[in-house]
Amino acid sequence: MNIEGNIVDIEAGIIYPGRIMVKNGLIESIEAIEGSFGHFILPGFTDSHVHIESSMLIPSEFARLAVVHGTVATVSDPHEIANVCGMEGVEYMIGNGKTVPFKFNFGAPSCVPATSFETAGAALDVDDVQRLLQKPEIKYLSEMMNFPGVLHKDPEVMQKIQAAQRLGKPVDGHAPGLRGNEARAYSNAGISTDHECFTAPEALDKLNLGMKILIREGSAAKNFEALIELLSEYPDQIMFCSDDKHPDSLEAGHINQLCARAVEKGIDLFRILKAACLNPVKHYQLDVGLLKEGDAADFIVVKDLDHFEVIQTYINGQLVAENGQTLIESQHPGIVNNFDCAPNLLRHLL
Ligand SMILES: [Zn+2]
Repeated sequence: MNIEGNIVDIEAGIIYPGRIMVKNGLIESIEAIEGSFGHFILPGFTDSHVHIESSMLIPSEFARLAVVHGTVATVSDPHEIANVCGMEGVEYMIGNGKTVPFKFNFGAPSCVPATSFETAGAALDVDDVQRLLQKPEIKYLSEMMNFPGVLHKDPEVMQKIQAAQRLGKPVDGHAPGLRGNEARAYSNAGISTDHECFTAPEALDKLNLGMKILIREGSAAKNFEALIELLSEYPDQIMFCSDDKHPDSLEAGHINQLCARAVEKGIDLFRILKAACLNPVKHYQLDVGLLKEGDAADFIVVKDLDHFEVIQTYINGQLVAENGQTLIESQHPGIVNNFDCAPNLLRHLL
């Protein structure tokens, strides 16, 4: 198939009328043509940190909603399901994600349970984390919440980080409020991102250490207003994420909304698109196309470059959403967990 429109080349910072030839799910060629078009073609959006579980949906249903807004990929920590179902839960997320044309990129949860004071349903030890990291579907070690453990070089924490480093997989951070020398020690331990910054000075500390900052705007935490101005100065170190995205808010919009808000603030379009499309793919080495010859044919067609209203979404050359409608079929969910209500206890309480 081929498709024509105004092609947005984010890296070169140019927009030109062109034709894209797609063959076997890949971009075979892109050529400049004569003509004028009312629509734009650009790489799809990636949510660089979102717990699929917070949408209350299984991955295949999350994908059905996300593609409508031009999202083609997520970087996702299956931390919540791991806390309940352990390794089986993580396997479920990977398996169910594969049933739909969408690019889920799961991490190995680093902190299950999150603290020793938690009554979790399961725990993942160093061996479990190592086993997960060896899987090709697992792209990174996910949010290292135990930052005191990193600062005090807790042996188990260090072993998990080293396991990821041996495999060349990035280690995600989670260090709210960490500044100065402590932030430096955390970054020196090999942790390359943080999505927990809630003030610009804190994010600046981490950016100056070379860390990537994920600007988070989800159903729970909202840091967009505090951090967005940093994108002008650090366009290669910033990404967009939701962290937690409830189903009603996923239905309303996704990373496309953050792009529109950034445009409204007067931030340069190409810097915005670096954060929304390019930076996550490069940092996590994702198998997501960036509109180059030979890439997977993952791209979107939008009406304009200020509201990013999505006309079409393509993943591996397949049309997966059009004019607000998902074209991904619902899948049979399978069951990994049941609520087990003890009738005697309930009767007692009533
Ligand atoms: Zn998170």
